[in-house]
Amino acid sequence: MDTADDEAARQRLVATLRQRLDVSERTLAAIAAVPRHAFVPDRYRSRAYDDRPLPIGREQTISAPHMVAVMTDLLDLEPGDAVFEVGTGCGYHAAVVAEIVGPGTVYSVERVPALAEAARERLDRLGYDVTVRAGDGRDAFAERPVFDAAYLTCAPADGVPAGIVDRVRTGGRIVAPIGRDGAQRLVRLTVGEDGLEREDHGGVRFVPMR
Ligand code: SAH
Repeated sequence: MDTADDEAARQRLVATLRQRLDVSERTLAAIAAVPRHAFVPDRYRSRAYDDRPLPIGREQTISAPHMVAVMTDLLDLEPGDAVFEVGTGCGYHAAVVAEIVGPGTVYSVERVPALAEAARERLDRLGYDVTVRAGDGRDAFAERPVFDAAYLTCAPADGVPAGIVDRVRTGGRIVAPIGRDGAQRLVRLTVGEDGLEREDHGGVRFVPMR
């Protein structure tokens, strides 16, 4: 259920993000559209619209709204873009991306089968047409044509694995936290004809990629 209080809390969150971040109105509209309270465990419902990560079980978390906004914005998405997410977690970030690209073009993989299953059911119930698979991001959706963009919500210690880079078309974007605990950087990679162009977007803290 999306109550008037949820809606008001979400609008306040979006107003804060608009002030604090340099992100597009399209990204903010996507954050405004997704009922984050439906993605957090019941005991955290009253904090669903705080701008902070929250535990979702299995030692994993739902990302903070500002981080979802910044990463989504860096992907420079257009409606219809095919997007690859590594680390579905509860499915919140995938829902935000689906608000921008539309139905049927978000593909997400999650290592923990129970989380993948729960996210698939939740996204379905909320009306998001996102394909969720249990598995390892390094080799998921190998049968699919290349994606327009990809992002990781878990941090590979030594750079984005080649198996993921290979899944993105020339000119496509990859946004990811990279590095070991305590020293991770958020980067945007653009896939060029002869290599990756890398942009640094500051220090971050994500769960390690397994
Ligand atoms: N996208 C989520 C955040 C997920 S947290 C949100 O909307 O808030 C990161 C997730 O990455 C965890 O659920 C973790 O299990 C998953 N993960 C870690 N290593 C992975 C791998 N190699 N392949 C796929 N998922 C992985």
